[in-house]
Amino acid sequence: MTGNPNTGKSTVFNALTGSRQEVGNWPGKTVEKKWGDLRYGKGLVVDLPGTYSLTAYSLEERIARNFIVEEKPDVVLDVVDASNLERNLYLAVQLIELGANLVIALNMMDVAECRGFRIDVEKLSELLGVPVIPTIASREKGIKELIRESAKTAKKRKRRFLIDYGKALEAKITELEKQVSMLAPALAEKYGARWIAIKTIEKDEEVLASIKKERKLKDYLRDHAYNEDADVEIAEKRYRYINGIAKKVVKRTSFAKLTTSDHIDKIVTNNWVGIPIFLLLMYVVYQLVFALGDPFVTMIGEALSWVAVHAQTLLISYHAPDWLVSLVISGMIEGIGNVLVFLPNILLLFAAIAILEDSGYMARAAFVMDRVMSKIGLHGKSFISLVLAFGCNVPAVMSVRTLENEKDRTITMLLSSLIPCNARMVVFVFIAGAFFEPEAAAQVVWSLVLLSFVLIMAMGWLFRKFLITGSRAPFVMELPPYHVPSLKAVVLHMWQRSQMFVKKAGTFILAMAIIMWFLAAYPEGVGYGSSQSYLGQLGQLFAPIFVPLGFDSITTVALLSGFVAKEVVISSFGVLYGVADEAALQQTIAAAWTPLQAYVFMVFTLLYIPCFATVAVIKKETGSWKWTLFAVGYTLALAWFVSFMVLQAGHLLGVG
Ligand code: GDP
Ligand code: MG
Repeated sequence: MTGNPNTGKSTVFNALTGSRQEVGNWPGKTVEKKWGDLRYGKGLVVDLPGTYSLTAYSLEERIARNFIVEEKPDVVLDVVDASNLERNLYLAVQLIELGANLVIALNMMDVAECRGFRIDVEKLSELLGVPVIPTIASREKGIKELIRESAKTAKKRKRRFLIDYGKALEAKITELEKQVSMLAPALAEKYGARWIAIKTIEKDEEVLASIKKERKLKDYLRDHAYNEDADVEIAEKRYRYINGIAKKVVKRTSFAKLTTSDHIDKIVTNNWVGIPIFLLLMYVVYQLVFALGDPFVTMIGEALSWVAVHAQTLLISYHAPDWLVSLVISGMIEGIGNVLVFLPNILLLFAAIAILEDSGYMARAAFVMDRVMSKIGLHGKSFISLVLAFGCNVPAVMSVRTLENEKDRTITMLLSSLIPCNARMVVFVFIAGAFFEPEAAAQVVWSLVLLSFVLIMAMGWLFRKFLITGSRAPFVMELPPYHVPSLKAVVLHMWQRSQMFVKKAGTFILAMAIIMWFLAAYPEGVGYGSSQSYLGQLGQLFAPIFVPLGFDSITTVALLSGFVAKEVVISSFGVLYGVADEAALQQTIAAAWTPLQAYVFMVFTLLYIPCFATVAVIKKETGSWKWTLFAVGYTLALAWFVSFMVLQAGHLLGVG
């Protein structure tokens, strides 16, 4: 299954398989291939990344193309956006030429209708010579027909060429085709000689690379140079052909008038008010997350301390040994409890992001931010990765694959770890909540978000200037039409992301909490979390580095533990101070620090090394230890430096 970005592929995929692949009104969301079984009947469906064409230009396009050529799927389902037929057909035509056994799902029929297009489905099918099924995937319309037609089509398989490239070009293609069949039969067998010929003329990188391995063909090509702009001619012919089809099958029922989408876009993508609107929206989101979430946080906190108290009584009544009581209460219940209480905030934050995404606003935000991003030599598209990073840096790092150019990818990856991910938010909510009234706390957290933006700008500029020079790839991203976010999509987002969060709390963080408990409680006989415990010793080892920032050894240890996952910082405090309940822990910390120290601590937490899962993905995506170590090193240095500056500034201003 393939199609342009944002045509509803994932929605179709979910409808076909009954699975819950993330859906978003968001170009370039699906990067990796996803597999699923058919819900009705037998078969395996693969959701390929969205592409505009089948050139070897970006990673996604290559993934899609190689899959089709190498795995030879029985049917290739091309999801086409009916409201944007002409551009979408570009891919469809290329798929047919590649020899894919194509079925077209003409999706977004409702949108097309709204915009006043009427599409002659039968004519389209006839002109292209492939089945075309109209669908509205978000309402599961046309899905059964799609499956039926695919099953039928799977049985036939043929390679066809639609486009007549004109006399001069055709002569060239035919000649080259002959040579390919003769000189490189294996290649011709796999891709089709005509396809190889066309792609050679188009100067397709990958095809040229595979030709390099075919000595005879390579020699032939060296001796027969092609005229330089034949590739442009081919593209033009293809466009004209598609334009012709579109003219024949699309009728406008009403005169094109400005849609509501256009009206809204005039405002939100405006040069002057676009960015303020974006910042304001973010501010409102954070206010909501705190104001609405707070009562629930308190409730969960109370429920957890009830559990702790009762677990303790129960264990003691069964004469459990002291270490076990301590492990269960101080280690396990406190450890995950302190993280879990923030579930309401997290849920609200995800709901807000999901609504912004699904409504179509987020793509506008990327569009608006492109102007700002371009100042630091980055993309609006990089901005999408940065927004994703609010959820978690791991998918953000993975999403940079949608960028065409490697330098853009590296910079975006390095910068995205400066975004306060959800785990860091947990820490901020906790610490800010301990020191400030809810409304002020929201402002404090918002100021941290702003700080991270400023630093991203600064670092991006520095990287572009000194480290990874070169220009960015041009920005192309379309703006999907606005629609009222579907409840299903929003709930799905919330559910998936929170599930990840809860799972992490239940496994990873629990394990870490137990390890921390052990380090704090042993060697045997030392006071819990005292300076003689393993943990205390570790803290003392690293303390000199943190003394200039005003962090004591407990804070140092907590920060060390944060490398595992940032939420662990809080549970470590719980363990280290030996305080069971969330409110009590907040009081303990509030008594131990000044507000300035709290702020410096949050700044440090905001910036220092991404958690180790992120580091692992950076390694995987860059394939380079150099960049991975750099990502770790520069964030640490930056965190230290900025925290130090904030502390000094605070002293100068006489706060704290
Ligand atoms: P992908 O990028 O191609 O995987 O697109 P998605 O499946 O993520 O869908 C993009 C957006 O379009 C989502 O907000 C869907 O809810 C919405 N969508 C999908 N199919 C339809 C449809 O037929 N009609 C309408 N109005 N919206 C749709
Ligand atoms: Mg998708």
